[in-house]
Amino acid sequence: MASAPSVQRLSQAPAPAGTAALSGFASPVGLDPQLERFLHQASSLLCQWLGQAGSAAPLPALSVLPAVEPELQGLAPERLLADLQLVMEGAFNPNHPGALAHLDPPPLAASIAADLICAGLNNNLLAEELSPSLTRLERSLCSWLAGELGLGDRSGGVAASGGSLSNLMALVTARRSRGLGCRGDAVVLCSADAHVSLDKAMAVMGLAAEGLIRLPVDAQGRMQPDALAERLDQLAQAGIPVLAVVATAGTTVRGAIDPLPAISAHCRRHGHWLHVDGAIGAVFALAPAHRQRLSGLELADSITVNPQKLLGITKTSSLLLLAEPGLLQQAFATGLPYMEPSWGPSHGGESGLQGSRPGEILKLWLGLRQLGRSGIEALVEGAIMRRRQLVALLAADPRLQLAGGPLHLLAFRPRDLDAEASDGWSSRTRQALLAEQLMLSRPWYQGRHHLKVVLGNPHTQASHLEHLSRIVHGSLPHG
Ligand SMILES: *Cc1c(COP(=O)(O)O)cnc(C)c1O
Repeated sequence: MASAPSVQRLSQAPAPAGTAALSGFASPVGLDPQLERFLHQASSLLCQWLGQAGSAAPLPALSVLPAVEPELQGLAPERLLADLQLVMEGAFNPNHPGALAHLDPPPLAASIAADLICAGLNNNLLAEELSPSLTRLERSLCSWLAGELGLGDRSGGVAASGGSLSNLMALVTARRSRGLGCRGDAVVLCSADAHVSLDKAMAVMGLAAEGLIRLPVDAQGRMQPDALAERLDQLAQAGIPVLAVVATAGTTVRGAIDPLPAISAHCRRHGHWLHVDGAIGAVFALAPAHRQRLSGLELADSITVNPQKLLGITKTSSLLLLAEPGLLQQAFATGLPYMEPSWGPSHGGESGLQGSRPGEILKLWLGLRQLGRSGIEALVEGAIMRRRQLVALLAADPRLQLAGGPLHLLAFRPRDLDAEASDGWSSRTRQALLAEQLMLSRPWYQGRHHLKVVLGNPHTQASHLEHLSRIVHGSLPHG
């Protein structure tokens, strides 16, 4: 029998015929056949769900939720799996070819497997002795990626549970490195289209909301360097400290990339920290054919990159990369008094805001290894090609106003509708598209509701985009 004597069974009740009760914890003295069977069954459930994605809807109708509270006796594996199935039936379906609303692509196979292994290892990136190999993997992979993005020989970083956290840690690190910890009047400059996580960061850092200065964008949704230069000079004259300038490489609604070389030149002139929020766009720098879209990325002090948004690395997967990763410890180290000293540069828990942290690096590492450089290039290329196809289908219609950029996002709205009419149109058209299994999102941008398409889903075919464009053309006011 595989269950070790010291490990108590969770379920004391006799298992129903044909089912074997599950040990609460895997036996440490030999392979646990119940656990193995359970994981096989769970994997099979997942594979079936993924495989049926195309015949379901991207966004399911309301589903039944199983009971949430534990029963007196623990449940047998079959009940657990049946309950799981109910939750899966109500889940958003990223593997559907019509899932085009958000930056949430289908999950990559190696990444799914690594997530499972990560759970089984149950290591903790807080400290090296709780994650010896994973800590080294994180350090090495962050250094490699920071090097690929051009941050230099000393560069590195840390994984974080999402881009919002990466952005926050970047700003805390910038503040510390500029000695502005006590200045409540310090400001951050970014474009009008920068991500809302910067507003949250200001709040967390105890800075006034107005301290986030959002500069107007040009017709392509990019920060205007001249306006930045002018504002930086004004701030310098007024003696107001600048904590950082945040440029966005891939804005959330249309995928615009701020002009990084010019922005960096102005930052250098004043000695300001340049953070690039590349949550969406930084991965394009890994594809040689698209690297030039990100020119100037290497001039950043710090970069946020979210491999979860296009590469299919399962959530969450975000990295904060820095030219001088040692600054992370200056900002966050506490000495971790209850841990052995670090063998390397520092413990993971000393390099960022999070304490206990899963080995998320595993699914990024294995996912990138599965894709290979050619696979990354193909994903990026496919996404851009689909955006071009959709632009070609929509651009000829003079009734439509497109808001796009160089990446794989495209927003649009009817040109002549006021705010209220755009709200109604976008809502009706989103419903009409959903009825045809095409899921778009409906961002509010520059005073109007738009419909937005994210073209990172590798299952989406030209025929889906043609169908989408027919519905959109049909939705437009005549005239
Ligand atoms: C998604 C996004 C973020 C935030 O990332 P999360 O992982 O959702 O926290 C930050 N910046 C940009 C530009 C984004 O698109």
